Amino acid sequence: ASTKAIPRDVPQPRRRQDRRRAPGTTAVDAFRNAADTDPSLAANRVWAEHIRGRMQSSSLGERTVIENTLSDVRALDSVIAGTVEAGAGWRALGEDARARILHRAGDILEARRAELLEVMGSECGKVIEQGDPEVSEAIDFAHYYAESGRALAGMRGAAAVPARLTVVTPPWNFPVAIPAGSTLAALAAGSPVIIKPARRARRSGAVMVEALWEAGVPRDVLQFVQLEGRELGDRLIGHPAVERVILTGGYETAESFRAMRPDLPLLAETSGKNAIIVTPSADLDLAAKDVAYSAFGHAGQKCSAASLVILVGSVASSQRFRRQLVDAVRAYDVGMPWDGTARIGPLIAPAEGKLLHALTELEPGERWALAPERLDDEGALWRPGIRDGVMPGSPFHLTEYFGPVLGIMTAASLDEAVRLVNAIDYGLTSGLHSLDEDEIAQWMATVEAGNLYVNRGTTGAIVQRQPFGGWKKASVGTGTKAGGPNYLIGLSDWIDSPVAA
Ligand code: GLU
Repeated sequence: ASTKAIPRDVPQPRRRQDRRRAPGTTAVDAFRNAADTDPSLAANRVWAEHIRGRMQSSSLGERTVIENTLSDVRALDSVIAGTVEAGAGWRALGEDARARILHRAGDILEARRAELLEVMGSECGKVIEQGDPEVSEAIDFAHYYAESGRALAGMRGAAAVPARLTVVTPPWNFPVAIPAGSTLAALAAGSPVIIKPARRARRSGAVMVEALWEAGVPRDVLQFVQLEGRELGDRLIGHPAVERVILTGGYETAESFRAMRPDLPLLAETSGKNAIIVTPSADLDLAAKDVAYSAFGHAGQKCSAASLVILVGSVASSQRFRRQLVDAVRAYDVGMPWDGTARIGPLIAPAEGKLLHALTELEPGERWALAPERLDDEGALWRPGIRDGVMPGSPFHLTEYFGPVLGIMTAASLDEAVRLVNAIDYGLTSGLHSLDEDEIAQWMATVEAGNLYVNRGTTGAIVQRQPFGGWKKASVGTGTKAGGPNYLIGLSDWIDSPVAA
């Protein structure tokens, strides 16, 4: 693999981390999350500046993308056949050898942190502040699933570890961590993988895959393919040799896969429309900051993003919280990721359709608490907007927009606020800001979402600490959570009892 190293005179980021396992402890005890880069250290700012200097013209991953483009059915079929064959060898390696390779993959992803940030910035508009924890998450998946694979074999016997061809179809919004997580999980469970990256994030996916190859995952066990044309994509999902699919993407895509292959075990993390409730007992300063970050980090392009904030009682009737929130959001600079000051980058593509509508048109009863502002001609770069007065049952209450626009709703009580949340079809993440233990308990018992966050933002799930996955239309298939103890068990259980469509 050809990679550009950061020149020697640029110091590597500093981390305070020690992965060695104390004698007598188990692998799970020893698991530690990778540390993000601390931007308060001067050396790390120099490092980040250097990465930004390379972002604009970066071509990392391009060659791998070109090499792996398939344009006809025969080529695809032969990749599928080759991967099935190679899978037997991967399984026969045994769980310890596989775990060693995956741990090495985690170390190589760490060593390539700068390259991953460069390519995510140049290809997907991701600012370093957002990309850095994403790289940490990818590293975490490697080390965590390496040990999960060992545990799985220990629990079920090595013979029960499957070698079933897994197709991974990741999204563009987390172009490194999500493909890495799905791929590493399948590999850890003994399965060969064909990964088809999102069209808009192929170079980022390529750099991640190169790191896994470098770690020792054979290229025919982990195939990275671009498919020209819809027909080939359908053929891949429809191919009888493909025995499971891990999808992160829209709910409609998951439904279309299921329609195409009702027999196919599918693990899909799909759409979200997430809300944070703020009650009168909340620390409003903290709430304003968390809502702003959850709504507008990566320009709101996260399934986990807060798209609604629901103000309860006196928080709703006064202007204080609204003013704090608007101030917090105004403090974010918007720009390209190679501008040193940008905290919000561009959208992956110019806003169109329902997102453009949400950024430009109000529904009856709504007003702008902060009007969005388009900063470029194409419509990819926006100062974020906040709509006040969003009505129950209105389009903004119930629709996912995946962009830099947040809606304010109000409720007389916490009960009513929870009803507004539960009226939404999706149930991925949900937030509560409250310092009242009874309110917290009541909310936890009644709100319908996979990931619940109290006095914290709704984005940035952390491997092992907050396994990630949703309810209702946010999850299609097994429903086991990524980065949690059941994910690999879910993968292997499908062999005995595929999930009925
Ligand atoms: N896992 C990410 C988070 O917790 C979200 C993933 C997604 O947007 O698909 O923020």
